[in-house]
Amino acid sequence: MQVRLVVFGRQGAGKGTQCELLSERFAVPHISTGDMLRAALKDETPTGLEAKPYMESGRLLPDDIMIRLIEERLGADDAENGFLLDGFPRTAAQADALLELLGDGIDLAVDIDVPVEIVKERMVERARDDDTPEAIETRLAAYEENTVPAIERFADAGLLYRVEGVGAVDEVFGRVVSAIETRLGEG
Ligand code: AMP
Repeated sequence: MQVRLVVFGRQGAGKGTQCELLSERFAVPHISTGDMLRAALKDETPTGLEAKPYMESGRLLPDDIMIRLIEERLGADDAENGFLLDGFPRTAAQADALLELLGDGIDLAVDIDVPVEIVKERMVERARDDDTPEAIETRLAAYEENTVPAIERFADAGLLYRVEGVGAVDEVFGRVVSAIETRLGEG
């Protein structure tokens, strides 16, 4: 059963883990813009070099670059029948572009909801190169300012399912899977 899914969640909400499990469960490619950009940075491609200062400071890249990147990626053969978007859209403009590009081609957007205080605790425990305390604060602030409005676009379109993200990995996974199966059963 394939699905076209968007997954939202603050950094530290366990989104990456859930996305890996979901991608396997529904046999769809896990498209993470953060992973794509980190790979581009490592390979020093033009996009990677452009992304570097933004990623290091935790700021969002310009919408036009991201929209171009995701349009290209969604045009690839493996995304034809389903995909899981992780890290895109991050702004209302990106959400509008995606909804315009795909129309009713999105089955569901899932928001893995974990309160800010809890994700902050989790994030100090894990270390990633771009996880300086300043970058963490900047990314969480960008989420409230830019990504919450993007999530609202999916709520307005009747496509949003909000899942309680505090709990064991398999518990949260179970909640997300049943929301997706219910939605696919409706269609
Ligand atoms: P992530 O691993 O999803 O947290 O992404 C790491 C970094 O890549 C972010 O802090 C941004 O600098 C950049 N990035 C990833 N996705 C996007 C996006 N959709 N829009 C703008 N910047 C992004």
